[in-house]
Amino acid sequence: MDVQLAGLVEESVVDGPGMRFVIFTQGCEHHCVGCHNPQTHDPNGGESVSVDWLKERIDAQKLIRGITFSGGEPFMQAEAMAELARYAKGKKLHTLAYTGYTFEELLVMSKTDNGVRDFLSSLDMIVDGPFVLAERDITLKFRGSKNQRLLDAVKSLAQGKAVLWEDPNEVMLRQFHRD
Ligand code: SF4
Repeated sequence: MDVQLAGLVEESVVDGPGMRFVIFTQGCEHHCVGCHNPQTHDPNGGESVSVDWLKERIDAQKLIRGITFSGGEPFMQAEAMAELARYAKGKKLHTLAYTGYTFEELLVMSKTDNGVRDFLSSLDMIVDGPFVLAERDITLKFRGSKNQRLLDAVKSLAQGKAVLWEDPNEVMLRQFHRD
């Protein structure tokens, strides 16, 4: 399976808790005003790489504690992202996805799209909703605008409603003290 890729950052400390491998997918249909990554919007841009190649890149990073799926819109390539997220979970890595969709929209999509369902169920954390320039706030943890929510993906799915992540630092502690 292939991924249309905008870019990679193989060691990042700004795209979620702890040191993370960040996959920037190519293609986004949200077109938020003020988007910092407009070069990722064209679904035909970027480069095509295989899921297996991305797994090898992940394996090569020994210091990472998590994978971040960013973009672009990762849910436009949900099936491939689901495979990578499952792979990451198998390696005990924390998984976080940025998406311009709201959690409620993703729940509806997941009823007819198995890729969306599988990707959602392989995530620990979601930052949801489009970037809204009028609500931009540079003091927010891991988010660009106030409408975006930092969600506990596991609790949100279990309860069928958006559940906020209570303490982003808690994840770091758990990650750094795991066996
Ligand atoms: S969802 Fe993200 S990548 Fe897509 S337009 Fe909005 S800010 Fe840009």
